[in-house]
Amino acid sequence: MMFDEPTFLPADISRVLVVEDDEVDFRHARRLLHEVFGSDLKLDWAQGVESAIDYVNTGDHDVYIIDYHLGGQTGLELMNELASPHRSGVVIFLTGIESPQVDRTIARAGASDYLIKSEVTAALLERSIRYGLAMEQRKSALHTEAAELRAAKARIEEQTEEYISIAEDLAATQHRLQQAFARVEESESKYRFLAEHDNLTRLPNRAFFTRFIEEELSKAAANGTGVALILLDLDRFKAINDNLGHPAGDALLVDTARRLVTALRDCDLAARLGGDEFGVFVTNLAGRADAVAIADRIIDAFSESRDSVDQRMSTSASLGIAFADDADSTFETLFRNADTALYEVKRSGRGTYQIFDEQLDRKLRREEELRSGLPSALKNGDLFLEYQPQVSATDGAVSALEALLRWRHPKYGVLAASEFIPYLEKSFTDNSVTGWVLEEACRQARQLNDTMGFDAPIAINISPIELRNPDFATLVQGTLLKTGLDPRSLEIEITEGSLLDHIGYVRDNIETLSALGIRIALDDFGTGFSSFAHIRMLPVDKLKIDRSFVLNMQRSRKDVAVVLATISLANALHVPVVAEGIETKDAVAFLGGETNLHLQGFHIGKPLPANALSAWLSGRPTAPTRQRAAPRTAQEP
Ligand code: C2E
Ligand code: MG
Ligand code: MG
Repeated sequence: MMFDEPTFLPADISRVLVVEDDEVDFRHARRLLHEVFGSDLKLDWAQGVESAIDYVNTGDHDVYIIDYHLGGQTGLELMNELASPHRSGVVIFLTGIESPQVDRTIARAGASDYLIKSEVTAALLERSIRYGLAMEQRKSALHTEAAELRAAKARIEEQTEEYISIAEDLAATQHRLQQAFARVEESESKYRFLAEHDNLTRLPNRAFFTRFIEEELSKAAANGTGVALILLDLDRFKAINDNLGHPAGDALLVDTARRLVTALRDCDLAARLGGDEFGVFVTNLAGRADAVAIADRIIDAFSESRDSVDQRMSTSASLGIAFADDADSTFETLFRNADTALYEVKRSGRGTYQIFDEQLDRKLRREEELRSGLPSALKNGDLFLEYQPQVSATDGAVSALEALLRWRHPKYGVLAASEFIPYLEKSFTDNSVTGWVLEEACRQARQLNDTMGFDAPIAINISPIELRNPDFATLVQGTLLKTGLDPRSLEIEITEGSLLDHIGYVRDNIETLSALGIRIALDDFGTGFSSFAHIRMLPVDKLKIDRSFVLNMQRSRKDVAVVLATISLANALHVPVVAEGIETKDAVAFLGGETNLHLQGFHIGKPLPANALSAWLSGRPTAPTRQRAAPRTAQEP
């Protein structure tokens, strides 16, 4: 630090204390002082330490000149008083002899100089005082600066405290804000969860699932990994819900979600899409087999015996699987394909899975084409009937003609009934096709009767869905009236499937028709439930052994047993029996001779178009099986 050199010369002082026990020495000092500072200088003289202390306490001296040896004491004892930071003033010691030890002691005590009495001159004294004053000035400047620094430090400390308290306030506010944000986030995530999940099963919902699949599809397209969508539908869910109530249905759905999730890997996602429909999106597939393995696990998870006491709650799962094979697979195509596969499995089996592929796609497209084309086929005259004869096994006389529906399709050629009726059954509800077949067949029978005296009945196949129609019997009656056909010349072939549901209307229809004299044949006998209760409850006039048994007779004794047992049953009931599917001479030879037995099949006669009928029939005898024989009762002999 730089200090200005003292600007006074000689030093500007006004009062001096001389501490000296020797008067001669005092006078010498006074003379020198007056010589330097003039005789106006105020001078106090203390002769010992005590009186010096009094002076120090009262006076305000610029300079203290102190003899080192004061009788038995030393001038150092004054230094305690003089060293107070509040007191300023130059302290100069005088001593008789030079001693380095005294020199050090005096310097350490804070004096500015010490002079040897014998060497002191006015100039030396003046210079010593001047330097002493300069030093005092520096000391006081340092004091001031130190005081300022202390004040600054105190201010900084004060501000720091202020900042600390502001910072603490800020921290508290920040904490409160964080808590508020956390609450907002929590409620946001709760809201998001609710918006993206199904309330009942806690599985992701359709919206979330859709988003997930869209993201995964683009990832899979980029990485070339395999992904698949599996749609799952619970079998029998509606029945369980209706019969056991909604709480049971809900419990089943929750249980389904649990089973589903346990069958999946971490990278798969299950969702509830609504009702009893669930979706699973599987990713990271090495091949199709991976998805099939997952589907198998899901199916197993449902077949595993339910520990619930209530077996009525047991169900199975049907799965439709679609793979996203090409890069431009979209959510929509994937969903549609999986849905198509699911539809197929629901229709054909249940409790298993079906993979969507080109073949299935073609098949279903064709079905759809047929379904939508049927009304115009009817209108355009593309439907026609073929007639297949049944003959007596004993003499070959024609006992009936079965009308079989055909469709001359503009794209697929002539289709047999088996190729379209199973898919179109539902289209038969409006009676339009039924009405047409009935009328066509009755007209044909009437014509054969009129032209060649043909008097065996015409048989018409009626599907379960037609038979459930309450107006069916009325429709038949109306047709008979219109065509003028004798009711006894009409036979209605029904299958056991007809008798399972809606038995009320079915029974009414059958009884009404039977009462009119129309014969009722039980078709495809042996393939349904073959419940004897049906035979007991309903007026059955004929049994038709399903062709699958007849076709298999040569290979299987069991089929022979079924055929023979059915013939025996018919005999006991006193109703005729028809063996369908006679394709060979051998079959005729094996069954030939059975009374009451009639044969139908390609070997006997293929289904013929109407215009070929009269040629085929001419020259053949007919043996109408019109008379109903009452079955024997146990009371009869
Ligand atoms: P279905 O009543 O059992 O008719 C016999 C089916 O077996 C016919 O098939 C016939 O062509 C075929 N068939 C006859 N003889 C033989 C043989 O020796 N070997 C073999 N393998 N098959 C033989 P189609 O015409 O395809 O009819 C299939 C089914 O469609 C019929 O079975 C019947 O249930 C139903 N159906 C036919 N026409 C009609 C109709 O007009 N209305 C309704 N609702 N169903 C019909
Ligand atoms: Mg039939
Ligand atoms: Mg049949």
